Amino acid sequence: MSGSEQQRQRTGAQPLFVLSEDTERTKGEDAQTANSQAGRAVAESVRTTLGPNGMDKMLVSDSGDVVVTNDGKTILEEMDIEHPAAEMLVEVAENQAEEVGDGTTTAVALAGKLLDETESLLMDDIHPTTIIQGYREALSQAQQTIESLTLDVELDDDHLRQVAQTSMTSGGVGGLTPEALAGLIIDAVRAVRRGDGIGRDALAVKAQPGRVASASRLVDGIVREFDVAGIEHPGEVTDASIAIIDTDLESPETDIDADYQFDSTDQFSAAVQAEEQRLREYAETIANAGADAVFVTGDIADTTAGALSGDGVVSFENVDTSAANDIAALTGAETVARVEELDGDAIGTADSVAIEEYDEQLTFIEGGAGGSAATLFVRGGTEHALDELERSVESGIDTVAAAIESEAVIPGGGAAEIAVAKAVRETASSFEGREQLAIEAFADAVESIPRTLARNAGTDPIDALVELRAANTEGTAGLIGSKADIADPVERGVIDPVSVKSEAITSAAETATMISRIDDVISASWPGRHSGSTHPLPCCDAEVLILE
Ligand code: ADP
Ligand code: MG
Repeated sequence: MSGSEQQRQRTGAQPLFVLSEDTERTKGEDAQTANSQAGRAVAESVRTTLGPNGMDKMLVSDSGDVVVTNDGKTILEEMDIEHPAAEMLVEVAENQAEEVGDGTTTAVALAGKLLDETESLLMDDIHPTTIIQGYREALSQAQQTIESLTLDVELDDDHLRQVAQTSMTSGGVGGLTPEALAGLIIDAVRAVRRGDGIGRDALAVKAQPGRVASASRLVDGIVREFDVAGIEHPGEVTDASIAIIDTDLESPETDIDADYQFDSTDQFSAAVQAEEQRLREYAETIANAGADAVFVTGDIADTTAGALSGDGVVSFENVDTSAANDIAALTGAETVARVEELDGDAIGTADSVAIEEYDEQLTFIEGGAGGSAATLFVRGGTEHALDELERSVESGIDTVAAAIESEAVIPGGGAAEIAVAKAVRETASSFEGREQLAIEAFADAVESIPRTLARNAGTDPIDALVELRAANTEGTAGLIGSKADIADPVERGVIDPVSVKSEAITSAAETATMISRIDDVISASWPGRHSGSTHPLPCCDAEVLILE
């Protein structure tokens, strides 16, 4: 019996171990402070990227991979964030991206600022419950104000173009002008319109470096990197009949280790010939079924590929299942499990299947009978800027889709936030003392968006706020363009979809509320908790830029 047990027995005290020894526990104000600070640190890391004058971040991984981006969600995903409260903010960005496709930086910056306000309120001895109630009132007022700021217009092409441009001027689009892309984006979204909704999943973006932006085009179908089988192939097949086969077109022997005993060379060459014959028959069956382009999920033997191209059939091997499904939906082809099952019914059609050489070899399948997909093929920019260009176009597409679906837009450039903050501040006076402070704090947090737009443009945020408050009635003044001019965003064509704004404010408020409600952090062992000097979180340092 150990000394301490003897002592406990003597004193009669019964120790009660509920948690394992490894468990770390932070309670009360310490927990709240640490969580707020972690959240704030995350928000701080994306703040400088907000708006048309936002800076890019260069994120370098352990293996030296470089990502240059100013997209909030991408930055947070690339960062190796381990603090649980900080992770909740990353989820805000992910959720925002998933729900509306844009406004990720706004949502995270806002959540971080709210946590900052929460911390000050806690220090002033305001109870978390009062803070949460205040935030709830403020959020409801904010939502009402956003509704009321909705522009009373029927959305036409000009509006949609402005929505796309507003979304893209803030992202990097390489050397491309957002104007050039906006028209294409609108056409692309229209191409996948399904009744009242948008078939967003049917619309892909594929960017290729070089050439001028005017070479960008909307492809009525899909663009992929496929392995072309065989050495020779017709570069393009028009009025294509398409077959999809879900198997290997190889000799079965190549898959297994088999020993063959031959009594004579005649017997051997007969066997080889039989095999060759079989491989050629695959090609014959495919050609007889009327196909002139065939997509095979497995390998295609050289003999078969050669015979196919001899018959004028272009063949693709190692096509993954999801691509095969896309081709089936696009062309109306039916995937068969064996070559022998191929008949007229299984054959789909497309206007053309074309193989084009870029930095990579791309296959364009256009004008499919099923007509289920479109691809925005974007040229321009350099290799490094390509991913960012794709992200930016994707976000332009999402924003236009959100505007069409919700049929509602709102003034951008921080004008909406100024109006929301004003309305929220006005309601504050009708509430009891302490709750009032929380409501005002919420208004301050919302105003951090125009404040940040001003700071990122290099103008004085306090002067800008004062001027904006004076000039702004109902969202009529925002900070526009590269010089952050105080102007009417609608006149200058800076508009955002309502859903982007309301989702950002709502999810920021909900997450900040959730984090503020936590007063006890019981952590088993999250990775990195004991990793020492390289990881200053969870306790209070604002440095979270640690990459994988
Ligand atoms: P988020 O990830 O939140 O979308 P962005 O960096 O895209 O962050 O910035 C979006 C904000 O920038 C919105 O408030 C939008 O209204 C504003 N904005 C976009 N273009 C302009 C512009 N030309 N002038 C002023 N503000 C703009
Ligand atoms: Mg944006």
